[in-house]
Amino acid sequence: MTDTLLSYDAALAEFDPALGLEVHVELNTATKMFCGCPTAFGAEPNTQTCPTCLGLPGSMPVVNTVAVESAIRIGLALNCRIAEWCRFARKNYFYPDMPKNFQTSQYDEPIAFDGYMDVEVDGETHRVGIERAHMEEDTGKSLHVGGSSGRIHGADYSLVDYNRAGIPLIEIVTKPVLGTGDKAPEVARAYVGQLRELLLGLGVSDVRMEQGSLRCDVNLSLAPKGSGTLGTRTETKNVNSLRSVERAARYEVQRHAAVLAGGRRVFQETRHWHEDTGVTTSGREKSDADDYRYFPEPDLVPVAPSREWVAELRATLPEPPHERRARLQREWGFSDLEMRDTVGAGALGLVEDTIAAGTPPQAARKWWLGELARRANETETEIGALGVVPADVARVQSLVDEGTLNDQLARQVFDGLLAGEGTPDEIVAARGLALVSDEHALSAAVDSAIAANPDVADKIRDGKVAAAGALIGAVMKEMRGQADANRVRELILERLT
Ligand SMILES: [Zn+2]
Repeated sequence: MTDTLLSYDAALAEFDPALGLEVHVELNTATKMFCGCPTAFGAEPNTQTCPTCLGLPGSMPVVNTVAVESAIRIGLALNCRIAEWCRFARKNYFYPDMPKNFQTSQYDEPIAFDGYMDVEVDGETHRVGIERAHMEEDTGKSLHVGGSSGRIHGADYSLVDYNRAGIPLIEIVTKPVLGTGDKAPEVARAYVGQLRELLLGLGVSDVRMEQGSLRCDVNLSLAPKGSGTLGTRTETKNVNSLRSVERAARYEVQRHAAVLAGGRRVFQETRHWHEDTGVTTSGREKSDADDYRYFPEPDLVPVAPSREWVAELRATLPEPPHERRARLQREWGFSDLEMRDTVGAGALGLVEDTIAAGTPPQAARKWWLGELARRANETETEIGALGVVPADVARVQSLVDEGTLNDQLARQVFDGLLAGEGTPDEIVAARGLALVSDEHALSAAVDSAIAANPDVADKIRDGKVAAAGALIGAVMKEMRGQADANRVRELILERLT
């Protein structure tokens, strides 16, 4: 069944959107949240388990100090208050990939609460309130075998891998984000993007959305314009790229608006995002009263971080993102617009690393935001997931600076990089891309271009130097683009003026 959608503009003319974002971050600790099992990704199924993370009777959990430290640092970076005393709680529900039949989480006593993050969209700052950041553990993974979809429906049997069960997670929940108007989907995307940047800066997670170490649920509701109330919300689960965060929010705005405009009501439910078709579909009905029978975890001592420890951890925080952006803009001499585009494309760190590898700021910007952002757009890929790294871009630029490549040839090197053909130097060699520096070959091409275009040559002899463009074009064509256009121009003018 396909949903009816209202056009985005019509939806915004009648309704105010309210966003809510829940982000789960897998921490990069060496061991799990409550046991000493390793957390490395991609190991043989069920080889990183023990009685505690399998929930066997009699096993006792112990809190991972590094995970608590990461949780506090995340809370501080999000301008949260840090609890002086808090507990874990059991969230009771049955699911096959959760061997204990409860998840050890936090309920009404989160370690961090009441913070905010300022998010920039198109030069405007939106303050996103942070309700809480709490500690919990991940579940295992189910694998459904047989059937065509990989889903449980139609499968012959299912397998469970508990390697991920018990990996530390931090869940970061925003307060309702209001007043963003038609920018709501972009604010959602920018929030997750900046949060990812912040977590990367803290070094607490590898924040790979495509591997699931950062997962986002997008809550959305609409209320009649100007009413100041909150509508019924839906929760779109596991939206796994920044682009999808924006698309899913936009889709739900249009879907809610069509439902409400038709005089029906929105069901409070979870929705599934479908990356391929760009739609959400109904999941399960959800009420605020879902009864997880929370109670304080009796097997774990409360977490009571001393104020001295919190102060020590505060001192380890990296430069806040907005200060960092302002400093980099000054250092690089970027205009506001250039900086905004760089941040918006998710390329700040990439540009920074490219510059650190010796590339002039404007050249780094040109390649990432011109060439590579365009390719990322075309292939609907995140710019950081293209497979091109800052060192490659820096090398391409130095080949341009050395005169081995011109911009045209450099673009072909990027083609090779995107196709996984090796390093820039290997691609230049394999594709034969280097500029012809052989003066004999160049001179011969210039002479034959002059001979073939006597009328153009006469114009230049008469002082119309601008006409040289036609001859340069002819030489470049003859040299299949592998000539330095400036040198070609010099050779032409030497002969004709
Ligand atoms: Zn274990």
